[in-house]
Formats: sequence, structure tokens, C-alpha cells
Amino acid sequence: MSKPKKPLFKLYSLVVFSFLLPLAGFFVYAAKYHAAFFYLAAALVINIILLVVFHKRLSQKQSLITLQKEEYFEKTNMLKAELSTEWQTIEAFRRKIINYSQLKDLTEKLSMCLNLEETSNVLSLEVGKLFGHKDVTVILYLFHTKLGELGIYSSQKGQMQINLKAKKGDIFDQWTVKTLHPLLVEDANSDFRFDVDKVSLEDCREIRSLISAPLMEGKKILGILRVDSPLSFHFTTEDLRFLRTIADLTSIAVENAQLYQSLEELAIKDGLTGLYLRRYLMGRFDEEMARTLRSKHELSFILIDLDYFKKYNDTFGHIAGDIVLRNVAEVLRDHFKKPGDLVCRYGGEEFCVLLPDCPKTKAAQLAEELRQKIKSQEIVLRRQKTNVTVSIGVAGFPKDARLKEELILKADEALYKAKRGGRDQVCLAS
Ligand code: GH3
Ligand code: MG
Ligand code: MG
Repeated sequence: MSKPKKPLFKLYSLVVFSFLLPLAGFFVYAAKYHAAFFYLAAALVINIILLVVFHKRLSQKQSLITLQKEEYFEKTNMLKAELSTEWQTIEAFRRKIINYSQLKDLTEKLSMCLNLEETSNVLSLEVGKLFGHKDVTVILYLFHTKLGELGIYSSQKGQMQINLKAKKGDIFDQWTVKTLHPLLVEDANSDFRFDVDKVSLEDCREIRSLISAPLMEGKKILGILRVDSPLSFHFTTEDLRFLRTIADLTSIAVENAQLYQSLEELAIKDGLTGLYLRRYLMGRFDEEMARTLRSKHELSFILIDLDYFKKYNDTFGHIAGDIVLRNVAEVLRDHFKKPGDLVCRYGGEEFCVLLPDCPKTKAAQLAEELRQKIKSQEIVLRRQKTNVTVSIGVAGFPKDARLKEELILKADEALYKAKRGGRDQVCLAS
């Protein structure tokens, strides 16, 4: 905005005055000596007055135009500001639409997953892509229901699964578990809530910023979904909001996967002892026999039956009997720990063990050790020390039998022999 220029105005008055003064003198002179000069001078004065008036009007119009110009300028600025907010809104909507379509994709993919492994694979890959940077690490922590502690289920950087040192989570995850709130750390080095040196001690990878959200099932925490980056200020509050929605979806997916898993286990595992059921054993039996034939190794089959268990039940009650069955199952699980060993509840108070790549002599030795272990286990019932004994039959494939049914029968015969022989002993098939 141009202000009236005072010095120019003074100059202008000076010029007008310097014209008027000689003109006035000329006018006086002309009026005294020559009439024609008088009229000429008068015309000149009128012209000058007209000029001054015209100039005044011109400057008035000029200032009006300047004022209008300023008004237009202001209006343009306002329009520009409005336009930029409109653009921001459009951009936010655009981002929201993209986010929704990404969430829709993720929901569809997660709903196809039946187990936790598939769920975590989809999650790691898709979440990594959503926060699009090759250096971000996506970590899924799940609460171990039995141990009641947090543990890493999967951790992925770009396309690769990585192995992290802090298996139970670091200080950031402890914060999330404690507060049950989502967490945004823009720059770990300047965040007063966390001692960043502790993190570097726990894990040697660099973490400068992160977002993390608890996976909730009602008021219960199932785990944590976390994305971290070696760059500071990599995540925004908008990213955190997005992660929270993903975490809600993940909670449902994890819940479904766990439900499906327990349903699957219910179908193949015994509810009382947690051991595999005979149905599952039959499926595995064929595979293991085929593998044994290919590898030219031996496979052993052990049948175990509790001695006088009916009497035990009658004396101490059925519930006490169940406790004994659970104890025996635990001993069995602990005794046959080699990868591939399969311990099952064969039915009632009978158990069986399939031992791939194990000759009958070795199986007999293991069976004898088991017999002694079970016998020496004390079970205190009604302040009374009790124990059970077992009779065991052992058969070997392919020496004792060529077919599954035949092998089971041979082990059963050996078990029967052990029973007849006075129980509490191991007998081999012949
Ligand atoms: P033996 O030495 O000849 O094997 O005698 P036993 O009494 O063990 O044999 P029997 O087959 O006559 O009895 C098995 C008993 O096991 C009968 C049943 O009450 C008990 N039993 C079977 N399943 C369960 C179970 O799930 N819980 C409990 N508590 N007892 C069971
Ligand atoms: Mg029996
Ligand atoms: Mg029995």
C-alpha cells in the first residue's frame, strides 16, 4: 500500500507557487499596460486552476484504485488460503481412501489365515509394505498363555525374517504392556520416557523411532504389534492411528487363529493328558513305516498299561485316577523327547509310544527306564503316599511284523505276557 508522499506534495506546491508568483506579477503588469496580455494571463491562470483541480481528481481516483487493489489483493489471499485448506482436506481424504483400501486388503488376507503362522506372515509382509521403508522392522509379540509372559512370535525386516535378541520385548514393549496404550516414539534419543542406552544394551540394532499398539481382547492383552525404524521422525500420529486399526484387526485374527488351533488340537489331542489320540497315531504310523523302509532303519512300538488301575480308582476315586493318568503322561512326555518320538494315549489307562529310527533293544532299554521312573514316582493322596506300576510290551519293525496292525498286535501280545508274568515288567515281542 503506497502512502501519500509528503515531500512530493511540498515540491508540487512549490512548483505551483513558483508559476503563480511570476504570473501574478505578469498579471499586474499586463492589467496596467496591455489589455490583451491581461486576457492571456487570465486564461493561463484559469488553465492552471483547471490543471490543479484535474490533478486533484486524478489523485483521488488513484487512491480509490489503490484501495480497490488492496481489497482485491486481500480477497485473493483469502481465496488462496481457502483453496489450500480445501487441498489439504482433499489430500487427507485421498490418504484415508488409500488407507481404507489397504485395510480392506489386509482384512481379506487375514481372514484367509487359519493359523498363527500364516497370520504373522501376512501381517509382517503387509504392515512392512504399509509403512513402506526397507529398513522398518515389524514385530509381532504374543502373550504366552501358560507362562504369562510376552514373547516374540515373528520379526521381519523387508522381505526377511530376522532374529532379535530381546525375546521378551524391550523397554518400549514393557511400557505398552504396562499402560495398555498405543505408543509413538518420534526420536528415541530425545524421548524423556525411555532410557535409550538400555535399549542399545538389549539389542544391537538401532531404533530411533517406533509405533506400537497393544492387541486387546476385551480388557485382556494378547500381544503387541510394533513397527520400528533406525531413522528418527519416521512415524507420525496418523501412522499410529493407522497401526491401532491394524492392531484391532490383528487381535481378531490372532483370536481366530488360536481358536482354530485349539479346535485342531481338540481333534487330535486328548483333553485329560494333552497327549495325541490313537486316531492321530494311525495316520503317522503309515508315514513312519514307509520312511523306515526307505531308510533301512528300525522302528519300535511300545504299549504301556497301568497295573490294577481299576483297584486304584476304587480305592482313591476316579478324580485321583485322573491325576495319576496326567502324571504318567507327563513322565512319558519327559522320557521320550527325541524329535520324531510320538507319545499317545492309546485309550483308557493305556499309552503307546512310536519310536522312529530306534532298534527294539534300545526301545526295551528306554521302556525299562520308564517303568522304574513311574514306579518311583510318589503321588500323595489324602496324606497317603501312593504309586502305580506299569506293564510294557515292545515290538520292532520290520523284524517282528511287516504291517501296522501286526506290529500293534505283537506289542499287545508282549504286554499281555508282562501282565501274565506278574505285571510291573517289560516284555519284548518274539
Ligand atoms: P490290569 O493290571 O490287568 O491292567 O488291571 P486294570 O485294573 O488296570 O485293568 P482294567 O482294564 O480291568 O481296568 C482299567 C481301568 O482303568 C478301568 C477304568 O476305571 C480305568 N480308567 C480307564 N480310563 C480312565 C480315565 O480316564 N480315568 C480314570 N480315573 N480311570 C480310567
Ligand atoms: Mg487296560
Ligand atoms: Mg490296566
